[in-house]
Amino acid sequence: MIAFKEIKESFLHLLFPHVCAGCGSDILSEESTLCMRCVDAMPETNFDIHPNNPIEKKFWGRLKLVGATAQYYFTKESLMQHLMHHFKYKNNKDLGLQLGRMMGESLKKSNRFNVDALIPLPLFPAKEKKRGFNQATILCQGMAEYMNVPVLNDVIIRPQFTETQTKKGRIERWLNMEGKFILKNPSAISDKHIILVDDVVTTGATLEACGTELLKADNVRLSLATLYYASH
Ligand SMILES: [Zn+2]
Repeated sequence: MIAFKEIKESFLHLLFPHVCAGCGSDILSEESTLCMRCVDAMPETNFDIHPNNPIEKKFWGRLKLVGATAQYYFTKESLMQHLMHHFKYKNNKDLGLQLGRMMGESLKKSNRFNVDALIPLPLFPAKEKKRGFNQATILCQGMAEYMNVPVLNDVIIRPQFTETQTKKGRIERWLNMEGKFILKNPSAISDKHIILVDDVVTTGATLEACGTELLKADNVRLSLATLYYASH
């Protein structure tokens, strides 16, 4: 006899199919947003276990770091690009949390990132309002489950454009504001090892600006982690 629970689950599955965000397969556990095949296919960098990796080299002479890593490689038309589209533009926060857990598990194992707190790189307030969330905060929440450290959202902020700035040209305004961060609560991170988190590292300019501001706190040690690395 088919149990009522099974009928209910099949019915729910028809209405709300629980499928892999990577490939659409329905062979995956209830708690996961990715099937095992897609998890295995993720292009891991293993930078977390390698000092002097390309991310650390990128910041040499720019930012004093304890360590830096990016979890995955990113290429166009790849699984990673597909997942980022689902996470950032289709609001799949469960997927973001799972990607964060995968980062956290890896960093915890590496033993090079034994930090006291996670800091998501802030978005401009208007952008966060429009998207409904900050992708870096979601990643931090997933990471925190493995790393057992708090996510600090109120330490550093990103000021919105002001009236006078909107009168300037768009590009000039962007140049003015892109790298602007304000350390609001330095005492929350003084004497701590913190890790600044974002979804991607490309030129590193924004992470550098935010990191420079965080380093103004007393005796703070800084590391960086991003979900992926766009090398080209
Ligand atoms: Zn899949």
